[in-house]
Amino acid sequence: LMGQMMASPLLISSLIKHAARHSGETEIVSKRVEGDIHRYGWRDAELRARKLAQAFARLGCRPGDRIGTLAWNGYRHLEIYYGSSGSELVCHTINPRLFPEQIAWIGNDAQDSVLCFDLTFLPLVERLAPQLKSVRHFIAMTDRAHMPAESSIANLLCYEELVEAEDGNYAWPDFDENTASSICYTSGTTGNPKGAVYSHRSTLLHAFAAALPDAMDCSARDVVLPVVPMFHVNAWGIPYSGALVGCKLVMPGPYLDGKSLYELFETEKVSFSAGVPTVWLGLLNYVKANGLKFSTFKRTVIGGSACPPAMMKTLQEDYGVEVIHAWGMTEMSPLGTLAKLTSRQLELPAEQQQRALEKQGKVIYGVDMAVADDEGRELPWDGASSGNLLVRGHWVIARYFGHTDSPLVALDGRPGWFPTGDVATIDEYGFMQITDRSKDVIKSGGEWISSIDLENIAMAHPAVFEAAAIASPHPKWDERPLLVVVKKPDAELTREQMLAFFDGRIAKWQIPDDVVFVTEIPHTATGKIQKLRLREQFKSHRLP
Ligand code: ADP
Repeated sequence: LMGQMMASPLLISSLIKHAARHSGETEIVSKRVEGDIHRYGWRDAELRARKLAQAFARLGCRPGDRIGTLAWNGYRHLEIYYGSSGSELVCHTINPRLFPEQIAWIGNDAQDSVLCFDLTFLPLVERLAPQLKSVRHFIAMTDRAHMPAESSIANLLCYEELVEAEDGNYAWPDFDENTASSICYTSGTTGNPKGAVYSHRSTLLHAFAAALPDAMDCSARDVVLPVVPMFHVNAWGIPYSGALVGCKLVMPGPYLDGKSLYELFETEKVSFSAGVPTVWLGLLNYVKANGLKFSTFKRTVIGGSACPPAMMKTLQEDYGVEVIHAWGMTEMSPLGTLAKLTSRQLELPAEQQQRALEKQGKVIYGVDMAVADDEGRELPWDGASSGNLLVRGHWVIARYFGHTDSPLVALDGRPGWFPTGDVATIDEYGFMQITDRSKDVIKSGGEWISSIDLENIAMAHPAVFEAAAIASPHPKWDERPLLVVVKKPDAELTREQMLAFFDGRIAKWQIPDDVVFVTEIPHTATGKIQKLRLREQFKSHRLP
């Protein structure tokens, strides 16, 4: 017997249709790159997303075409999310903080046909345009009045003109819910960045789960300000969950300093926010230095890097803001676990509860996880056995974009698990704690730095025999790169010369903080650098 319920595909357009119809007046407030504040409701957002879908079609876009974005959190970016995915195009948000060559590589790998960008990125796009072979149209996300007088980009299009030229007489199409909706690239892997291709179905299921009380706990009563960028795993799904629950959204644009954020939190009565640990430092410093309090801010999700317990304590005890520590990854759309206590844990002594809250937390329905030894055998949930963290679920990738080989591994002989590259324990309450990382990358302020890129650059120096880049703990950025170098016999090389060699070869914020010279770097039997041993060896190295 089959169920006899109505069936319609789980499409992203259904989210904004719902928000427009049932929360039409609920506001989306954006601080624009142009400097002013823009506000409108979900109804207008949906109408403009439809007009944008028409505009994309008029530009010749076909189902499956990729629409690249280089943009901050703002209403136009939100319209692109819905206007592209909703019309069977694929929204490809690109991280503008990457080194330009890497951005070009990603744009070409994804084969973007259109690139939409905020004015901030005009110089960057002008520089990259000749390398972006697949891009047919460049769209500046602004109005005619703010369009650059001249640009090296031929036929630069104006976003507002494109939208205003359409009548909105457009019905969101129906198609298979497994169709690609968006792509995000992660640099948190070995080698070149890799694309995770989300589907409408995976995005919708993630949006449902993300809004649940044991996840972000989002409702129509919330005012949500995603500090996490829309180019960072779709702002952790907030643009979708926000439409699903019909909450007010506040988009900070490029203004992420403590003062700007605080003012926006207060004037727009923000109740909930989300971001990586580093963004809260600026905000907390500003609030503290000026003796301020938050009047409406009640909860925040912090993830992307381990949240320092001291930050959690300050937010909770001094400012009454509940911190929900979360873990996820691009390959997981990104939510995996969140630290919200269960009723059993609420019976534990306060200090044990606090320790649980500092862990990365419990999985939400839709994701399963396990820790395994190097032979793929599941380890017990005793809070002590540390092993490779494996996941699977509705919004976990099965493969990377353009790669035919499967990244999946087996657990106790049963295939189908994604190896996260994180090393963790799980306790009897199902709370996971990251204890280390087996993947060879460094995460600084929530952004990846490839240790391989750093090593390749260092190795190109004529005085370097061997180099290894490792993550060194840092109070502000969580991790910063430390370069360990073996000089060639009799070669002269100073720390300063080594660091100067990185200038212009990589983004400034990715240059190592320090260099240590050693006579030998430890290797495994197969000749690989033993990063874990190196990290252990330099655990207490003080960065300058
Ligand atoms: P995101 O930054 O959105 O989580 P990425 O794919 O860029 O997504 O990074 C995922 C990786 O970041 C994880 O595999 C893990 O190494 C690290 N990470 C994410 N959240 C945490 C956390 N709360 N604590 C420690 N590490 C984390």
